[in-house]
Amino acid sequence: MRNVIVQFLLCGSLTFGIWTLLLCVYFYHDHVGGGQAESQELASIWSLEKKLQPPITHGPGHPVQAERPNEDETKERRPFLNSSKDVQFMDPELLQGFTKYGFNTIISESLGRVRPLPDTRNEMCHQKHYPAQLPTASVVICFHNEEFNALFRTVTSVVHFTPHQLLEEIILVDDMSKFDDLKEKLDYHLEKFRGKVKLVRTERREGLIRARMAGAARASGDVLVFLDSHCEVNRMWLQPLLAAVAQHRRTVVCPVIDVIDPMTLEYQPSPVVRGAFDWHLRFKWDNVLSYETEGPEGPIRPVRSPAMAGGIFAINRHYFNEIGQYDKDMDLWGGENLELSLRIWMCGGQLFVLPCSRVGHIVKHNTENLTEVSRALTRNNLRLVHVWLDEYKEQYLLKRPGLKSVPYGNISERVALRKRLGCKSFQWYLDTVFPELEASKGNR
Ligand code: UDP
Ligand code: MN
Repeated sequence: MRNVIVQFLLCGSLTFGIWTLLLCVYFYHDHVGGGQAESQELASIWSLEKKLQPPITHGPGHPVQAERPNEDETKERRPFLNSSKDVQFMDPELLQGFTKYGFNTIISESLGRVRPLPDTRNEMCHQKHYPAQLPTASVVICFHNEEFNALFRTVTSVVHFTPHQLLEEIILVDDMSKFDDLKEKLDYHLEKFRGKVKLVRTERREGLIRARMAGAARASGDVLVFLDSHCEVNRMWLQPLLAAVAQHRRTVVCPVIDVIDPMTLEYQPSPVVRGAFDWHLRFKWDNVLSYETEGPEGPIRPVRSPAMAGGIFAINRHYFNEIGQYDKDMDLWGGENLELSLRIWMCGGQLFVLPCSRVGHIVKHNTENLTEVSRALTRNNLRLVHVWLDEYKEQYLLKRPGLKSVPYGNISERVALRKRLGCKSFQWYLDTVFPELEASKGNR
C-alpha cells in the first residue's frame, strides 16, 4: 500500500514538475517575444524579480594563462549573448537539458569554456587600488550532477580572472555526481590545470554543507572562497574580497551576485543589495539603507549585510575553523547560510557585501527531489532555531506547531560551540545588526 502511495506521489510530482517547466518556458517565451498585455504584465513582474539577485552566495586582472580552446567543441562559439531571440523554446533538447540541469544546456555548450563578460562594476571601482601584498585564496567549488560546460566555465573564469600569485588552488569537490561526463572526461580536461586544480570526490552524497567542509579541510590558502559550480567570476573579483579579509580577520565578505539568466545565459548586472531574511527564515535580498552609501565611497562602500545568500563568500581559513565551520549534521543544503550569518555576527565577526566584486551565478531551476530538499531545509532550520534563536525559538515553534514533533538530531555540540565562543544573544543581533527584522514582527 505504501508503495502504491509513494508511486502515486512520485507520478504526481513528476507530472507537476513537467507542467511547471512547460509553463515556465511558456511565460519566458511570452516575456521575450512580447505577447499579450496580460502576459506582458505577468512577465514584467517576473522580470522585475529577476533583476534582483535571486537567492540562493574587481583594474584589470592579470590573466595567468592564455585561454585554451575547447578541444571537444565542434559547434560555433557565441561569445556573449545580447538577445534571447536565438532561443528555440520548444526544442526537445532544450527541455531535456532544462529538466536535467535546470538551465539552457544548448547555449551553455555553445558558449564553451570562457567568454567575454560585461564589466558590471560601478565606474568608481576602476579607481580603487588594492595592496600589492594580499593573502592567497583557496577557491572551493562543490558540485553534484553539474552540467559539464558550466562547471568548466566556473573553473576557467577563476583561472582567467585571478592573478596567479593570489590563487593558491581551486578545490573541486564532486559530491557523488552520477553523470558520466563528470568522471574520466573531467579528470582528462582538468589536466591542463595540473598543480592549480585539485579534485576530491566524496564517497557518498554528503550534501553541500559537508562537501564544503571536505573541501575546506584540504585547503592551504589563507582565505577560503566558496563558489557554486555554475558561476563566472568577473574582472578584479577577488582582490576586494581578499583585501577586506586581510584588513579584519573576522570580516566575511560576499561579492555582488550578478544574474546569469537560465534560459539565455546572458550575464546581467545586479543592483547592490544586502542579504536579509524573514521570520520564516527565508532568505531575501533587501535594499541597502541610505546611510550605508554615505561618505566619499558612496555607492561602492562595503554594505553591512545581516545575512549571506550562501553560495559565494570569502572567509579567513583559520577563522572559518575557529568559529566552527558548518553544522555538519545539517543535510543537503539550505539554512546553513543563515546559521553561518548569525554565528558570524553574534560571535564577534561581521559580514559585508562588496560592490566592487562581482560574480555571475546561473539562477538554475530546481532539479532536485523537492521532498528531500524540503525535509533537509526543515531539519536545518530547526537546528538553527534551537541553537541561535533564544526566546524567539518559542515564538517560532508556537506559530508552527507541526514542527514540534520533527526530529532535528543532537545539537549539543553546536550549543557548546556557541558557549565556547562567548556569542551574544539573538536580541543583540536584532537590536544591533538587523532591527528591521524585529520591526516586522507582525509577519511572523
Ligand atoms: N551541491 C552539492 N551537493 C548537494 C547539493 C548541491 O555539492 O547535495 C552543490 C551544487 O552543485 C552547487 C551548490 O552546491 O554547486 C549549490 O547548489 P545549487 O546551485 O543547487 O543551489 P542554489 O544556487 O540554487 O541555491
Ligand atoms: Mn547555485
